Amino acid sequence: MSVRTRFAPSPTGGLHLGGVRTALYSYLYTKKHHGQFVLRIEDTDQNRYVEGAEQYIIDCLNWCGITPDEGPHLPGDYAPYRQSERKADYKPYALQLVEQGHAYYAFDTPEELEAMRNNFKSPNNPSPQYDHNTRMKMKNSLTLLPEETERLLAAQTPYVIRIKMDENEVITFQDMIRGEISNESGLVDDKVLLKADGMPTYHLAVVVDDYLMKITHAFRGEEWLPSAPVHIKLWEYLGWKNDMPQWAHLPLILKPDGHGKLSKRDGDRLGFPVFAMDWQDAKTGEMMQGFRERGFLPEAFVNMLAMLGWHSGEEKELFSMDELISSFSMERVHKHGAKFDFEKAKWFNHEWIKHSTEEHLLPQVKKHLQQANIPVGDDDKLSNIIALVKDRCTLLHDFVQQTGYFYQSPASYDLESIQPKWSAEKKDFFESLMLRFKDLPDFKMQTIEESFKALAAEKNIKVGELQLPFRIMLVGGKFGPGVFQIAELIGKEAVEMRVGAVLGQL
Ligand code: GLU
Repeated sequence: MSVRTRFAPSPTGGLHLGGVRTALYSYLYTKKHHGQFVLRIEDTDQNRYVEGAEQYIIDCLNWCGITPDEGPHLPGDYAPYRQSERKADYKPYALQLVEQGHAYYAFDTPEELEAMRNNFKSPNNPSPQYDHNTRMKMKNSLTLLPEETERLLAAQTPYVIRIKMDENEVITFQDMIRGEISNESGLVDDKVLLKADGMPTYHLAVVVDDYLMKITHAFRGEEWLPSAPVHIKLWEYLGWKNDMPQWAHLPLILKPDGHGKLSKRDGDRLGFPVFAMDWQDAKTGEMMQGFRERGFLPEAFVNMLAMLGWHSGEEKELFSMDELISSFSMERVHKHGAKFDFEKAKWFNHEWIKHSTEEHLLPQVKKHLQQANIPVGDDDKLSNIIALVKDRCTLLHDFVQQTGYFYQSPASYDLESIQPKWSAEKKDFFESLMLRFKDLPDFKMQTIEESFKALAAEKNIKVGELQLPFRIMLVGGKFGPGVFQIAELIGKEAVEMRVGAVLGQL
């Protein structure tokens, strides 16, 4: 049977890196087995629906190269791929469960539910649930006479449909990462399956859709483990047990100190992004920074995420998407949470920048330079510059500092690093150098270097003592590749102007 997996986010906001990792592992597994990867939008909770979130999710997956085979934006045999558009599909299954005695109508008002939580609260049971302990004291089709239930339904009294969990059953299933998992049914509450607005809850919709869409493997976060017994029972009660997907509950991504799940607040607090791309909260206007805008290459982001919870078993750490697909195996997904390490994330990016071709980097670097208002000229020049400085860039934004001076004079010069060792002899050297430059046959790196060194020898000053001031005059600070290469690329006129500007300040 061909592998079919799904990524099933709710469009409630930006995509946290944990969500992207779930999509990634699902995608890697699917592609390794030549299957189909489905994007399904779980938008049954209208109160939490956020405008723009679905498009954001699609854009994120696109940016990462995690390409769905089917989804709301693509044609497919199992359309529609938005649960809100499948609303009519779910109710018959909820009614079937009621019919079979595995679910029941509940008419309790919010006030009655609140009263239940207060009345049944005890030291042994500090937060009472709607379950086998309480259900027979509530207003539902188990406690009402059939005629009364009929009357309430006929009068269109608002109701929900709840699953009836057994009191004493051990519910067992196999998880691809954790092996056998058992839960006592008595500890699980009678979850709502169909809401008063006729929409299914996640619990019913996920089972119905995984079945109808012929999903074979369901990857999701560890936070869904407590709901698994409900889902297992639904697969069983609906008579689909043999078609149930294999479950994989992925371990959490933890805060850098290992204490608890990495939250979007941690990003703000610790100064790193936790979303794949920038996300602006429409209500608060708050902007959450994304890895993309922070200057990450998608290859690096994906590589880093893959290693956050999985290990290839080899020394090698750099994997392209194709390499990840062929190396990925569920046996090597860790059972325990993985600590997020921003320094390591940056290391991946630095390595990917170093290993990427200039052609590949060009459009992305250009965007960052243009955003910083650097007048980027033709692509050939930029390509040469990228080749020269890419080893020095960890984030794409570093190209602004590392390449800006090729296009415009530095905004300021680090004179403090020149001044302590500055002398009249050095000033004379640079003034003579500018005269020499006028007569050079060309302004190539080698010619510049030879003339610089010859003059230093004539004036009896060590070349090493002159190169640092020269660099600062050209780029503004103590950074950049070989200074003679820089001189060639910025050209004679700009070199003369910058040297002149600094000499005038010393
Ligand atoms: N809609 C759920 C979420 O947003 C998906 C859980 C699942 O994949 O089953 O987390």
